[in-house]
Amino acid sequence: MRLFIASLHTESNTFAPIPTDLQSFTGNCYFQPGAHPDHPTTTASALLIVARGRSRADGFTLIEGTVTGAHPAGTTSRHAYETLRDEILGQLRDALPVDAVALGLHGAMVAHGYDDCEGDLLARAREIVGSRVPIGATLDPHCHMTPTMLAAANALICYKENPHIDFVERAGELVTLLLRTARGEIRPVSSVWDCRMIDIFMTSSQPMRGFVDRISALEGREGVLSISVVHGFSGSDVPHLGTKMLVITDNRKADGDALAERLGRELYGLRGRCFAELLTPDQGLDRALATHGGPVVLADCLDNPGGGLAGDSTTILHRMLARGIADAAVGALWDPMAVRFCHGAGEGAQLRLRFGGKAAPTSGVPVDAEVEVTKVVRDATQNRASSVVAIGDAAAIRVAGIDVILESTRVQTFDPSLFRNLGIEPADRKIVVVKSYGHFRAGFAPIAKDILYIDAGGPYPSDLRKVPYRRIPRPIWPIDNDPHAIDGASTRGDR
Ligand SMILES: [Zn+2]
Repeated sequence: MRLFIASLHTESNTFAPIPTDLQSFTGNCYFQPGAHPDHPTTTASALLIVARGRSRADGFTLIEGTVTGAHPAGTTSRHAYETLRDEILGQLRDALPVDAVALGLHGAMVAHGYDDCEGDLLARAREIVGSRVPIGATLDPHCHMTPTMLAAANALICYKENPHIDFVERAGELVTLLLRTARGEIRPVSSVWDCRMIDIFMTSSQPMRGFVDRISALEGREGVLSISVVHGFSGSDVPHLGTKMLVITDNRKADGDALAERLGRELYGLRGRCFAELLTPDQGLDRALATHGGPVVLADCLDNPGGGLAGDSTTILHRMLARGIADAAVGALWDPMAVRFCHGAGEGAQLRLRFGGKAAPTSGVPVDAEVEVTKVVRDATQNRASSVVAIGDAAAIRVAGIDVILESTRVQTFDPSLFRNLGIEPADRKIVVVKSYGHFRAGFAPIAKDILYIDAGGPYPSDLRKVPYRRIPRPIWPIDNDPHAIDGASTRGDR
């Protein structure tokens, strides 16, 4: 039994100002066959780590391909995508014959000339291995589940949790499904129901927690092999955007179709209820100051590098400085130039520094202030569940009583270790501002007195009805009021 594994992943925000080029992959996560360390470096790379362990236990031969990924950003260059795609497909050709192919993907990668990179990659892999070899992929739930992907793959499995803390378990499920398929024990068949909506679903709180628990309990019974909630990714203006239910059965297509529709309609009924209230910066700061104890974590969620955005917005920090709010920590702001200045000045230095607010008008204006450099770290990291995430050279500075972490690799705030590795204890602060939409919760919830979500502006509005989409499928909620025509004819809303 020969299993080929490779990984190519990024999330493309077609509204974001930062292009994704080859260096975005090779300078971030790029490992040629056999070179990947024995711990996950990204969610998608967990597939390789799981398969390594399983190859020894289950006695199959693992053929490793390249594992590479870029942090979410704007549309990927054609050159970057085609170079990395052809590298992996060449490795697959060299590995033939294989009994199964597993790919660690994201599912929302868009390149110039390719709306659906994963569909293109999977279809080309199918051409290489033929119709009888099972192909599967792990996907981020913030993906576009396209017909091309579904036609080319036998099994697609999304992470169930948001924050995505379950990437190792899902990778294990995919390996099991592919091995069982290759051995002729099962015949996976996919059923999809399009919920015709765009929304955000946090699984750490109700009602989504209960929904995920219910679908998990259905797996392994009555021929159901796997169920995925495709959340969709609202930051892409592409033709297959949207929330979908995916059910994989053991060759029970009609049952799978019925279950996907039943669950999909149930999920549609939860629309608008699965994410938190968004506050203005001042509303968030007021509420944090009125809270007894701390820390209150403020998520600057529309400047989330994890959604492809810059991560250098200074809007909330400017409000804190203007209001004289101290006893706070902010991190991480992406500013390689300011990091370099801080490293040049050295720990303990006081200097006049310009930082943040550089990538786009929506980043706000830079902060110009007298700062103290409290710590500098080369090749700094933060934890994310069982993985270690590089943030590049980093610096901690103190400005008017506020500790600010500056990073040179643009990556969202996952975990309190981001602060601790730079000498700041976030649990001791009244207010902690993080750059993330949801993934910070796993790490920060245990120390947070409260968690608030702030809309401090960004390249696309938090109100999806105001996003200048041109190519997404219609009708779709919340742009259209009743896409399933439950209340009669579908109503196309005003944009
Ligand atoms: Zn995601």
